[in-house]
Amino acid sequence: MTGANVNKTNRLQFANVRGRASLVVTSAADGSGSAVDVERASNGEFSSDPMACFGKWNALRDLAARAGDAGAAAFTPADLAAPSPRPAQIFGIGLNYREHAHETGAPIPETPLTFTKFPSSVNSPHGDIVIDVPTADWEVELVAVIGNGGRNISLEHAWDAIAGICVGQDVSDRLLQRATQPPQFSLGKSRRGYTPFGPWLVDARSVADRDSLTMHCSLDGEEVQRTKTDDMIFTVPQLVAYLSTIVDLLPGDVIYTGTPSGVGGARKPPRFLAPGNTVVSTIDGIGSITNRCVAR
Ligand code: ZN
Repeated sequence: MTGANVNKTNRLQFANVRGRASLVVTSAADGSGSAVDVERASNGEFSSDPMACFGKWNALRDLAARAGDAGAAAFTPADLAAPSPRPAQIFGIGLNYREHAHETGAPIPETPLTFTKFPSSVNSPHGDIVIDVPTADWEVELVAVIGNGGRNISLEHAWDAIAGICVGQDVSDRLLQRATQPPQFSLGKSRRGYTPFGPWLVDARSVADRDSLTMHCSLDGEEVQRTKTDDMIFTVPQLVAYLSTIVDLLPGDVIYTGTPSGVGGARKPPRFLAPGNTVVSTIDGIGSITNRCVAR
């Protein structure tokens, strides 16, 4: 970490540093930074388990406001694990950007097309992705993690049910995703390491432009996806409200809110991930994750 490109964090940014709940206090362009340990800073009011923080998000906001940077320790990108490492539920939303629906030839959905990414597919934000099929594809997405959650959350209170937002990759095996008729996406989205997200959660309340963020993805340095998140068909609050009419949203649950156009499978000819590729996924002002594709 060099002095010139280090930014001081003036908002709650929640990270999982080597398995411990942490508050980011500085971050650098290379993905390194420094963080305060939540258990130590709270004198044991919070446990070190990141999963224990989501149901106490308001108390965590108070802790972040008073903790300062005393005792902050340096971290590297490799030290970061998934901010919600053991979510009870991970929801994926298909075809939630108009241009992406067009490129796949599908009609615009009238109801959120919802599938699951099974939790055993969770990966570290900068973790390697094992590519052992010829049809693995990239999908950059805005990811929302639930705070208190609940049922029948109103549109008006939906953002308040979200702890924070981050960037994720919804890695997808296109052949497996469409192996049956009708298709069932969930297994094709859940191979080992197919669910990296992070690098940290930015408190949803602190993001002024949370409904219109710039999101992009590059493959070996070539930009393959770019959008503003205000092009979503169903907004983040609409997704939270809709899902909560059907299921209980639980603290730490993860919602992948859909990918924009530019995926490999819709290209002519199709293009897929191969060992040796590097995928960089970014939401400006939130963070960036880097995933290397490796052979088994
Ligand atoms: Zn997706």
